[in-house]
Parts: sequence; structure tokens; C-alpha cells
Amino acid sequence: MMDSIITKSKKCYVCGAVTNLHCHHIFMGANRKISEDNGFKVYLCGYHHNQSNDGVHGNNGHELDMWLKQEAQRRYEKTHSRGDFIALIGRSFL
Ligand SMILES: [Zn+2]
Ligand SMILES: [Zn+2]
Repeated sequence: MMDSIITKSKKCYVCGAVTNLHCHHIFMGANRKISEDNGFKVYLCGYHHNQSNDGVHGNNGHELDMWLKQEAQRRYEKTHSRGDFIALIGRSFL
């Protein structure tokens, strides 16, 4: 269990809310464990997670999903190469 590499603060990464926080794994499905092991996680409030259409898992969430993936990649590439990221996740989002 690794802490988020994206942010250290326990608040919604989108709006800054501090209540009803969910831990969101930025890369899901087959990459969920990779997200866990590499700290590709952020806190999101329920609204920005899965309790509205605008949430990252909602019908309108694609843009937010892509932005979070880019944020994760940017942060990862501060200490790793782009090739390392692609080897891990399978593609670049930048
Ligand atoms: Zn929020
Ligand atoms: Zn999630």
C-alpha cells in the first residue's frame, strides 16, 4: 500500500472538498494493482468520483479521467523516463 504520488493532502483533487472523500485509482481494470503499487491514486469527493454524471466514473467523466491520467504521468516522469511509464501502463497520455 503506497501513498499517492500525486498529492499529499487529504481533499478532493478537483474541488478541494474535505468531506465524503473516496480514494480513486487512476488506472483501473488490469492496471489497478499498478496504481496501488505506484501511488497513482487521488482523493475525490463523491461528486467528482462516482456519485454524479460529472464524476470521473460518470457519463461525462472522460475529460476528468484523462486529466488525472496526465497528472499521474507528469508526476511519475519527475523521477522516471517516459519509456518507464509506457512500460508500466502501456501508453502515454501526454
Ligand atoms: Zn470534488
Ligand atoms: Zn474511482
